[in-house]
Parts: sequence; structure tokens; C-alpha cells
Amino acid sequence: MIKVFNTMSRTKEIFKPLKAGEVSIYCCGVTPYNEPHIGNARPFVTWDVIRRFFAKEGYSVRYIQNFTDVDDKIIKTANQQGVTWKDVAEKNIAAYFKAMDALNIRRADFYPRVSDTMDDIIKMIQTLVDKGFAYVLDNGDVFYSVEKIANYGKLSGRKLSDMMAGARVEIDGRKQNPMDFALWKAAKPGEPYWDSPWGQGRPGWHIECSAMSLKYLGETFDFHGGGSDLIFPHHENEIAQSQAAIGDENSFARYWVHNGFITDGNEKLSKSNAEMVKRNKGFFTVAEVLAKYPGEVVRLLLLQTHYRNPLEFNEDRVKESQEFFGKLARAYWQLDTLARKIHAGEFVKDTGDKNFAITVSQAGGLVEVAERLLANFYAAMEDDFNTALAITHMFELAKEVGDYYGAFVKGEILPVSIDGDILLRVQAIYMEMASIIGIFEQPVPVEAADEEKSSNDDELVNALMKIILNIRQGARVTKNWVMADKIRHELKEAGIIVEDTPNGATWHRA
Ligand SMILES: [Zn+2]
Repeated sequence: MIKVFNTMSRTKEIFKPLKAGEVSIYCCGVTPYNEPHIGNARPFVTWDVIRRFFAKEGYSVRYIQNFTDVDDKIIKTANQQGVTWKDVAEKNIAAYFKAMDALNIRRADFYPRVSDTMDDIIKMIQTLVDKGFAYVLDNGDVFYSVEKIANYGKLSGRKLSDMMAGARVEIDGRKQNPMDFALWKAAKPGEPYWDSPWGQGRPGWHIECSAMSLKYLGETFDFHGGGSDLIFPHHENEIAQSQAAIGDENSFARYWVHNGFITDGNEKLSKSNAEMVKRNKGFFTVAEVLAKYPGEVVRLLLLQTHYRNPLEFNEDRVKESQEFFGKLARAYWQLDTLARKIHAGEFVKDTGDKNFAITVSQAGGLVEVAERLLANFYAAMEDDFNTALAITHMFELAKEVGDYYGAFVKGEILPVSIDGDILLRVQAIYMEMASIIGIFEQPVPVEAADEEKSSNDDELVNALMKIILNIRQGARVTKNWVMADKIRHELKEAGIIVEDTPNGATWHRA
């Protein structure tokens, strides 16, 4: 049972998909007028984990995310740089993909752009005009009339009368109501434009998401996501447009999921705040952060806070996350080392060994703990995608693996007595958790795991011991008991205990 906090109802609801076995998601993307900053990345990392989780739960997931490539800020940037709006958009969309790929964010099924969706946008505006929800001004501007729809403000919990009282001086006297918003803007000199029934112009901001979700997901779909700063007016306006055009107040998104802000410890991270950009100089865009720290470390940090809570982002926190990532990576390498030994046939079951029964139950204990932590991990994800809690369960398993591996290295668990199948199951559980969180998909840094060095040493010791025990066995075969005992005695002095069993000699550290 998956529970989701729905911004619309302000409660956690049990998720019931629109279509059995399918999940459809629309998430508002970026306006590519600049490089993505770390605040932009949060919703996309969140949705990437939610998508991975639903896929693991057996759903087929469809995920749509737009690019607002026709926009005031893009046009302004293009004019300042003396390039076209398309150049600005292309350059920053490329920067977006580069940054998000480094954060292991899987690509959406479609990335519709405003410039590619113009026909659908115009069609939807025409529907709103035809149905009387929108009005056209003499100059070709088209506005949405918020008074024509019941419950405008239902997502943000605002009342139209309060909003109007708060609007104070009416700036644009051509609007019927101060809260009316632009669906289409008549062309101004020096701006890109498209032909429409109302003359040349371009769309207002909100209409694109209504047109795109309708085109790619249909009239009704499961999730709509984005940062909580989009709740009003953007998502409120999307609802008004879509439900009016479709003619059904139950259509459009069924669950509204909004991310909390990222702050730098003082205030919300935002590209529009010049002070903040200055204060965080050199550590603000995703590219700047990734120049100093691995993407998976940054990703882990973003997921260690529940998506609805505010998240403080600064270099100290990234450093903490790097240390934490190192601890998770250590267990990754420990399991990897054991798995390599298993595949190399080093842990062959030997029922003749007197310790076998005891140590198998030790590994059995580990797999029981791992299964329990995996169940806890899923329970956390099912409770409103609580990645923060899920990660603590993964960390607990990392610690258990560390204890087991430590006992193995110390010789408390004999290689001969390790049940490979059980350990491979523990490794599979650990990697299942990692695959939902979305880490260990890039080369896992070896320096993060000090044990890797000692496990290399172990391999050398194992190889040398094999040679020594072979020599000793040769002495035994020729009945050279003096030599055989001398070898055993000297190994004991060096801290290695040799035991003769019916299946040959074994050794462990004292
Ligand atoms: Zn949107």
C-alpha cells in the first residue's frame, strides 16, 4: 500500500492508479535560460527515485517533463548575448542534460518543448475562448477569466475574493479581473512569434503544461509534480485551464506532489536572487558543485531529507554526505570482495568441517537481518516516498555487512564454512536498495573503502597459504613429519592456526 501526501487534499492518501499497473507522471521542467542550479535539481532527483520505486513495484511508468523554451527570460538573455532564443535554449538544455545525467537521473519518456507543441497550445486556447472561459483583447492578447470557473484557488487553498483584495492596484486595466492571466501574448517587436487565430504572438507561461499533459498523458493522469513555489499561480492556473477545457472538474492530475525548497542556510536558492548567487559564488550551479564532488554524493545528499521538507545545501553538508557515501561504498566493496571469492570457488561448502554448522548460521543471521531491512526500506518508500528513512535502513545493512566482513577478515568466520548463496542474496538486497536510491551506478571510488586494500592483502595471504600448505602436504605424503610440524609450528608463531581435517588442511588467523 503506497501512501502519498496530496497537496490538493493536504493529507496522505492511499495511492490508487488510474489504470491498474500503470503510473503516469507530469513534472514541470526548467526554463532553459541559464545553467541549472542545485535548487532545480531537487524535484528531478525526487521524481527519478519515485519512478525507480514504482518500476520495482511492478508498475509501468510514463514520465513527461517539459522545457519552457519560449519565455521572457530566454528572449531577454538572447537579446543581451546577441544570439537567437533557440541558441539560448539549446545551449542550456544541453547543460541541463549533462548535469542531470551526472546525478543519475534517468531520461523522461518525452521532453516536450513549447516551440514543438504550439499547435496543441493554440487549440486548447481556442477551446477556452469557444467555451467562454477566455477573452480576446483588441491587440490579440488572450486572457483566462478566473471568475468563470468554480473553486479557483482550490490547490493553494486561496479564495478568489481574498486574492483580489490582496491585488491592490490593478496594473493591467484591460483584464476583467486582476487575477486573470495571459494565455496568449500578442507579438512585440524583437520577439519570436507564431501565427494564431488572434494574430501573431506567443503563449503565456501556464498553458503549455495543460496542453502537453493532455497530449502525452490524456485528460486525467496520476501525478503532477514540481517545486512548491509552483503551487500558485502556475499549478492553480494549469488546473483552471485544463478542467475548463476538458469540461470535467475531476480531470487532470489526481495527486499533487510538491518539493520543499532548498536553502543555503539563509533563504531559498534561486537564480533570481542576485545576493544569493553572489554569496554562493562557485558553489551554486549543478556544474559548479559537480566540479568538486561526485554526482552520486550530491544525489545522496538531496535524498537524505524527505522531499517535502526544506533542505539546507552548502559545502559542509556535501562533505558530510561524501563521508556517508564512503561508508555505504565500503559495504559495497566488502560484498563485492566476498562475491568474487564465492565466484572463484573459494568458499566451497564442506560439511566435514566442525565449524560449518555454526558459521552458516552466522551468515543466515545476516541474510535474515538483510531481508528485514529490505522490508523496512520498502515500507519507508511506501510511506510518501520517505527516502530519508529508507537510506537509514540501507546504512544499517551496511553496518551489518561491515561486522560480518570484519569477523571474516579476523578469521572468526572460516572461508570453508561460508555459504555463498546466502551472501550473494545479501549482496542482491544491498544492490536493490542502491538501485532505487540510484547510487553505485557510476564507478564506486575504491579509496572510499579502506578494507579494499586489506582485502587485496588477504588475497595475497590466501595465495601464499595455499603454497605453504601444499609444501606441507608434500612433506606429509613423504612422511616428513618433522618438516610438517615445523611448518605448522612456525605458522602458529606468525599467528596462523593450521588444522588437519579429513578433507585436507585448513587455516585461520589466531
Ligand atoms: Zn508546469
